[in-house]
Amino acid sequence: MSGRSGSGVQATDVLVVGGGPAGSTAAALLARKGYRVTLIEKARHPRFHIGESLLPANLPLLERLGVAQQVREIGMQKWGAEFICPRERRQQDYRFCEAWNKSMPYAYQVRRSEFDRILIHNAARLGAEVIEGARVSAVDLGQQSAPITVQVQAEDGAVSTWRARFLVDASGRDTFLANTLQSKRRNRQHNSAALFGHFSGARRHAGEREGHISIYWFDHGWFWFIPLSDGATSVGAVVWPYYLKSRSVPVHEFFLATIALCPPLAQRLANATLTTEVEATGNYSYSSTRSHGEGYLLLGDAYAFIDPVFSSGVMLAMNSAFVGADAVDACLRAPARARAALREFDRSMRSGPREFSWFIYRVTTPAMREMLLAPRNLLRMKEALLSLLAGDIFGSTPIWKSVRAFKMTYRLSSLLHPRRSARAARRHSINIRPV
Ligand SMILES: Cc1cc2nc3c(=O)[nH]c(=O)nc-3n(C[C@H](O)[C@H](O)[C@H](O)COP(=O)(O)OP(=O)(O)OC[C@H]3O[C@@H](n4cnc5c(N)ncnc54)[C@H](O)[C@@H]3O)c2cc1C
Repeated sequence: MSGRSGSGVQATDVLVVGGGPAGSTAAALLARKGYRVTLIEKARHPRFHIGESLLPANLPLLERLGVAQQVREIGMQKWGAEFICPRERRQQDYRFCEAWNKSMPYAYQVRRSEFDRILIHNAARLGAEVIEGARVSAVDLGQQSAPITVQVQAEDGAVSTWRARFLVDASGRDTFLANTLQSKRRNRQHNSAALFGHFSGARRHAGEREGHISIYWFDHGWFWFIPLSDGATSVGAVVWPYYLKSRSVPVHEFFLATIALCPPLAQRLANATLTTEVEATGNYSYSSTRSHGEGYLLLGDAYAFIDPVFSSGVMLAMNSAFVGADAVDACLRAPARARAALREFDRSMRSGPREFSWFIYRVTTPAMREMLLAPRNLLRMKEALLSLLAGDIFGSTPIWKSVRAFKMTYRLSSLLHPRRSARAARRHSINIRPV
């Protein structure tokens, strides 16, 4: 528990901003290491959040946190993914059991309100003080060894002051610290927006494929179709900004009209009912120029977010919390190890988004579509691709030579079709321009 100093200022060892997957994971791990941890969350759980498809690489993290069983109870088993190109009438199934490392054959699709509630309760169970309905509104990062001071505003407007030895920013796309430090940069190589909602009565695949995520390409981007365990289906369109900007009707009408542009998806939703408001979100490709500084670090989306096409966000957020908690521990308990731990943290923060980005930037090009729709396991390229799709990028699975071979093949294929590639490059630069 936190302590109150004579001045009415509350003191804690680690103050965590935000109780999404990154913040709740970091708070749980640091509380388990014996620190006084205070997690401030502006919403109250359960609260809606987008990002419902997990990766197999999430499962070992859930085990280590001690919540694997609880997530199993709310999750829909996801054994794979399918990519569908309606224009070419082609489809390709990927099953995680065929990845390089066969020990991670499935993941889950989850309602984030339930998943995030499990994680934040776990942080409290392990001893973190969790304060919901309160927003971190300002920070003074202090000078040299002076403690960090944070202002917290409760729902009734009351402001309290906190002192912390360490600040962990896990505020997600609010990017609290990156805004304060002015370190947030728009991604110049990618730019997209999204529209999404939940349906009941969507047509599902049978058997093991029921929990697959389906990705449909269409002229203005791509769709996801994510079946949840309670019968609901999350559907989203990730579109180029110009397309969202062209909207002249209410957002739910625009969403349904967008779905109609993708006949195989529209058919699966023919007897389905939209059960939620449709939400739209834009401009979400960014990163911070720094991941840490004296007495603070940035986790998950508070540091970077590129695009959801490979469902990597929650895994990257939770992984950043594991590496981040070790770095915080080193800074507070073993300063001699702090530099190396922070270097390792920074390396991990940059490498995750980087590995996915290469694929994300190219996923709508004809050459990448071709390779995803007709994968070949020459030089174990398909297994390596599947490992990447499973999020198995931080462990010791030796996929990297095969990933390089995949990239070389992509480049070769682009060179063999120069006109098609030039057209795709031109189109891409038009698609990502800010509007
Ligand atoms: C359209 C779209 C689709 C996506 N689909 C997927 C998917 O299928 N799979 C996947 O893995 N990822 C997906 N993602 C990404 C995923 O949602 C995020 O990567 C993930 O939620 C990041 O976790 P986080 O803990 O860093 O941030 P968040 O989950 O956003 O949590 C941040 C928390 O901080 C709180 N907060 C913010 N500011 C403050 C403040 N000042 N004070 C106190 N609390 C604060 C917020 O209320 C929130 O609860 C998607 C993202 C988008 C935009």
